[in-house]
Amino acid sequence: MSRVQEWRDDALCAEVDPEIFHPKQGESIGPAREVCMACPVRRECADHAIPNEPYGVWGGLSPRERQRLRRSLAPTAA
Ligand code: SF4
Repeated sequence: MSRVQEWRDDALCAEVDPEIFHPKQGESIGPAREVCMACPVRRECADHAIPNEPYGVWGGLSPRERQRLRRSLAPTAA
């Protein structure tokens, strides 16, 4: 079993309506973030999602928040 699959087995989002993790324009990510903050694999999820997932709420982070983190973590030219 892959490492990704291992943390997904404990994902709290598997127990709630998946729609809240894909809010429409103007809708709050608050309900999804609330679930993520209680999730035992939030760190593993965020580590996976920051470089890999462009859409939806992952690890309590919006797509825009993950994009900012990707940019801040990207190596800079010397
Ligand atoms: S942190 Fe959020 S999106 Fe990630 S596995 Fe947990 S509940 Fe799901």
